[in-house]
Amino acid sequence: MNGGRPKIIDEFTDRPVSRQRIKQLRWKRDGRCSICGKPHSATSANFCDKHAESATKFGRKYSSSKPWHPGGRGRIPNKVKFAAKEFDQT
Ligand SMILES: [Zn+2]
Repeated sequence: MNGGRPKIIDEFTDRPVSRQRIKQLRWKRDGRCSICGKPHSATSANFCDKHAESATKFGRKYSSSKPWHPGGRGRIPNKVKFAAKEFDQT
């Protein structure tokens, strides 16, 4: 076979999953968002700020939980985190 993009050889090359999933796994390995490929959030292992927020919202809806409140379980929303950072600096 001639031409075409050279094949990336790494630990995901021969996985029996789709090409999109392999791309997501590579992004995850490289510390990037699994959905959009941007650098991931400080509060999330897999997603950027935007997608971490939407994942939390979806999870809350899926488990029919109420929105997060201070002192509650789960990931602290980024807005609250940033507000706390600004408070520390002043
Ligand atoms: Zn993202």
